[in-house]
Amino acid sequence: MYKVVKFGGSSLASAEQFRKVGDIVRADDARRFVVPSAPGKRFSADTKVTDMLYGCYALAEAGKEFGTELRAIQGRYWEIVEGLGVQLDINKEFEVIKNNFENRAGSNYAASRGEYLNGLIMAAYLGYEFIDAAEVIFFDENGEFDADKTQKVLSSRLEKCHSAVVPGFYGSMPDGTVKTFSRGGSDITGSIVAKAIRADVYENWTDVSGFMVADPRIIDNPEVIETITYRELRELAYMGATVLHEEAIFPVRQQGIPINIRNTNAPDDNGTWIVESTCQKSKYVITGIAGKKGFCSINIEKDRMNSEIGFGRKVLQAFEENGISFEHVPSGIDTMTVFVHQDEFMHKEQKVVAGLHRYTNPDTIDIESDLALIAVVGRGMKSTRGTAGRIFSALAHNNVNVKMIDQGSSELNIIIGVENDDFEVAIRAIYDIFVVTKL
Ligand code: ASP
Repeated sequence: MYKVVKFGGSSLASAEQFRKVGDIVRADDARRFVVPSAPGKRFSADTKVTDMLYGCYALAEAGKEFGTELRAIQGRYWEIVEGLGVQLDINKEFEVIKNNFENRAGSNYAASRGEYLNGLIMAAYLGYEFIDAAEVIFFDENGEFDADKTQKVLSSRLEKCHSAVVPGFYGSMPDGTVKTFSRGGSDITGSIVAKAIRADVYENWTDVSGFMVADPRIIDNPEVIETITYRELRELAYMGATVLHEEAIFPVRQQGIPINIRNTNAPDDNGTWIVESTCQKSKYVITGIAGKKGFCSINIEKDRMNSEIGFGRKVLQAFEENGISFEHVPSGIDTMTVFVHQDEFMHKEQKVVAGLHRYTNPDTIDIESDLALIAVVGRGMKSTRGTAGRIFSALAHNNVNVKMIDQGSSELNIIIGVENDDFEVAIRAIYDIFVVTKL
């Protein structure tokens, strides 16, 4: 049995956190492949090492003095190395980094050193082999992740070792320069490593005990989701629920490898299982609620629009031409509404309106701003009657005016549009009805 274990930045922010990680890895022989992030925040006002590296490199690139900033980063690692008592010449590593900064090695290289150094420390601490991600994770000429080449090289490399540490977040370009994934990308590395070794489980260790049913900034102490499917997670993640990088799902999903989100600070908690499919019923009718503020709706009205072939395409063409992606398009007999991100749309508003007039010759166009979209997601909704009814009566009881309703044909989610100001009230109302009162 193989487990790939990825640890996030807060799990590796100090020597004390590293010790917890060491205990977790040693507690299970199957935990043979470890993917670390860079040291994160030790307390809420702290700065992540990745951000310190970006800041430090910006100075170097501008030809400014960066010694103080680099020493501060070195101090973070020094504290960990000293605290753990591992044998590692951190000064030598920082000499190399300093030289490369002076020679403008690039901000991707700079940011990647956070994971690289944590990987060296982790390997020394656990007695695992260290594999530099630049040698096994590849991007193509366009900077896109090269899945085929990576799979080939990484899997043959991993098969040869008993246990290894592969730092997260970066790989290399065809010319050998370092390139990082987007922020939070160590989750992706963990997933790639899990796929390459055909792991039984991809454990993703963080500082929460799993995926919450709703945003803890809105709901006090929300329940943790025990099991969620990849598809449900996609819906929730798209709507802003963050625990795992969105891209991290794809590599493991191709192999049906489950992801287990765990808490480094509460290792006995079961966390959340993310699986391809399951016969396990979720505890409540809904699996989760997520949402985002800041949408605009553009309502296009035209008599007999529904008999005009190609009307929808022409409407969307006006958005496409201006590089605006749409979120939802609910339609009626003589109306079609397009939901877009307000900040994308705002400065192109009049161009889009002109385009709509040109292509569709509408009777009226109304624009409404400051809207929020809420997704209520759950595989259980398909087999339960009255879910939508319960949602809307809860919203009505809380004086929330529903602006839009969209139920995906998969019956996996119901999307509700409300005013930005009603966003939190609406989420609390939906959470209460399904989770607190368990109706
Ligand atoms: N250290 C990187 C970041 O802060 C990547 C990661 O932690 O996953 O974004």
